[in-house]
Amino acid sequence: MPEPVPRVPFIAANWKMNKTIADTREYVPALLGQLDVGHAAQVALCVPFTDLASAVELTGDSEVIVLAQNMHQEEAGAFTGEISARMLLELGVHGAVLGHSERRRDFGETDRALQEKVPAALAAGLTPVLCVGETEEEREAGETQRKLRHQVQEALLHVDEDRLADVVVAYEPIWAIGTGRVASPDQAQEAIAFIRALVGDRSKAAAAEVRVIYGGSVSSENAAEILAQPDVDGALVGGASLDAQEFAKIVAAAP
Ligand code: PEP
Repeated sequence: MPEPVPRVPFIAANWKMNKTIADTREYVPALLGQLDVGHAAQVALCVPFTDLASAVELTGDSEVIVLAQNMHQEEAGAFTGEISARMLLELGVHGAVLGHSERRRDFGETDRALQEKVPAALAAGLTPVLCVGETEEEREAGETQRKLRHQVQEALLHVDEDRLADVVVAYEPIWAIGTGRVASPDQAQEAIAFIRALVGDRSKAAAAEVRVIYGGSVSSENAAEILAQPDVDGALVGGASLDAQEFAKIVAAAP
């Protein structure tokens, strides 16, 4: 049996609808200047569409990659206001966050659309960061695993077994996003191990390789403990990523 390849921690900033091009021009050099030499993580910036070109230019040949926060599944066509994988690739973008809970809740993003978006991103050579997670009510009702099973199975339905490990799955309990109520390390570990097992139902090899990360009120104060959990392969960071110094500290916390 070959030794499993170690999973490189994936630490991603989700700026959401924050920062202009001018802000990006301040942030990226500040971040590059703060990142420790030899840190363990792959670092990603998930930025608004309008900042993508500047972020790609400013990150240059550094190890920091740039992702979009959404993507349409079709290659082209009458989809006013949407952006395709080919448009992102042309800018030098590496991937896209797909199915963030804010898009599911506020903009009608569906599991059905994600069934097409995730394979479309992979086919184009982009890394999809698929977000899943339960509401507070679902957790209290003991429905967390049912919700995660549904979201993971639906979104990965049309992903071939040999591409499953190219998806990054972000476990983001909705009650922890933007609330300051971070999941406990045990809660994050348990849910993420469950997600890994769901991938394992499709492919044991992919389960060993796929990166499953945690998101929800991660800060430089709590990152190390969460990132130390055996199945937690990184973090998707919203609010705390808006400050380059704070985000660099979170990157430094990756084991
Ligand atoms: C997010 O939006 O993906 C997120 C995790 O936000 P926050 O870190 O602010 O909770």
